[in-house]
Amino acid sequence: MSDDCIFCKIATKQIPVDAVYEDDEFIAFHDLNRQAPVHVLVIPKAHFPTVMDVTDASVLGRAMLAANEAARCMNLQDDGFRIVVNCRDDGGQTVYHLHLHVLGGRFMQWPPG
Ligand code: 5GP
Ligand code: ZN
Repeated sequence: MSDDCIFCKIATKQIPVDAVYEDDEFIAFHDLNRQAPVHVLVIPKAHFPTVMDVTDASVLGRAMLAANEAARCMNLQDDGFRIVVNCRDDGGQTVYHLHLHVLGGRFMQWPPG
């Protein structure tokens, strides 16, 4: 837990959110500024500033499974979806608590801008 981290406050329920998926280790909720009809953020309850700060491969594996579950909860399993992790400035990361974006509900262009 990092005191000034907005996602830690969400993870500890100091700031309430409507969870679309939750387990012991992760919570998924709607992005405030959605970039697609479905835009969910999946965060670990533990604080990792960036994806580079995770050294345990099993955490990343479980994070991907949690993203799959969040996508399933949003009924994206048939049409598909995109999972995005931004890292630091050039990756466009603005919140320094690891999060996976799950985007769906429309066709995703490639490459991204
Ligand atoms: P990043 O740019 O770091 O990959 O993504 C951070 C995301 O968090 C952004 O898409 C932004 O809209 C979202 N976000 C920032 N603050 C909040 C918040 O307090 N609540 C929610 N639900 N989303 C937030
Ligand atoms: Zn945090």
